[in-house]
Amino acid sequence: MNIILFGPPGAGKGTQAKKLVEFYNIPQISTGDILRANLREGTKLGLAAREYMDKGELVPDEVLIGIIKNRLKEDDCENGFMLDGYPRTVPQADALAGILEEIEKPIDIVLNFEVPDEALVSRIGGRLMCKCGASYHKTFNPPKEEGICDACGAEVYQRADDTEEAVKNRLDVYKNQTQPLIDYYEKMDLLKTLDGTKDIEVVFEDIKAILAEFA
Ligand code: ADP
Ligand code: ADP
Ligand code: ZN
Repeated sequence: MNIILFGPPGAGKGTQAKKLVEFYNIPQISTGDILRANLREGTKLGLAAREYMDKGELVPDEVLIGIIKNRLKEDDCENGFMLDGYPRTVPQADALAGILEEIEKPIDIVLNFEVPDEALVSRIGGRLMCKCGASYHKTFNPPKEEGICDACGAEVYQRADDTEEAVKNRLDVYKNQTQPLIDYYEKMDLLKTLDGTKDIEVVFEDIKAILAEFA
């Protein structure tokens, strides 16, 4: 099962990806998590990406295409994968199509999370992250023990780019650069839109029902 999780920042892609990883045993490939790991480790890639990420702008396509190309060739993608946060531009989607053709792993479905802007702003405003990639919310989905990740026990934190200013910019960037991909995948008959405003568990059930057709 080769899946793209698609939608605006804060739509719940990462939250659902974590649940799907356990359920289907296929890896989540989150470009945001990969970039943040590089930031933490102070790699050259991380240093180059920081200025874009802090402002809520997209990191240049060549960088992301390189990351995805390497990652999709790893062994754990053999039985499928979930892309989370990639592609975000038409050139990224075109590059992905080329890579997947080469490794003979076509996309099966693009799950498009629909959530209105107001909800996105309050979700991102209360988001708490863990370095393991788990994401929580101060009120909508708090960790069992305050401040501590359920999954790995590390301390959760607020992302540097989850400020009001950067969030507004990320939503604009989404509308201008990423949203056109809805048409792109609709034309390829791969798009499946779901109501991302429902509770986390309900969205998960909806996704499983959609994916049951492929399993
Ligand atoms: P969110 O979950 O809020 O959508 P992500 O964790 O996916 O945010 O991404 C955080 C930041 O990392 C983005 O604002 C952008 O700077 C960078 N980034 C992640 N994925 C991509 C991508 N595919 N193309 C360009 N930049 C990306
Ligand atoms: P994305 O990966 O799409 O940027 P996240 O999965 O990080 O989004 O979710 C953004 C924020 O919204 C997090 O704080 C998360 O706990 C919360 N959240 C995710 N799904 C829901 C939902 N269905 N209802 C309410 N809050 C949610
Ligand atoms: Zn954790």
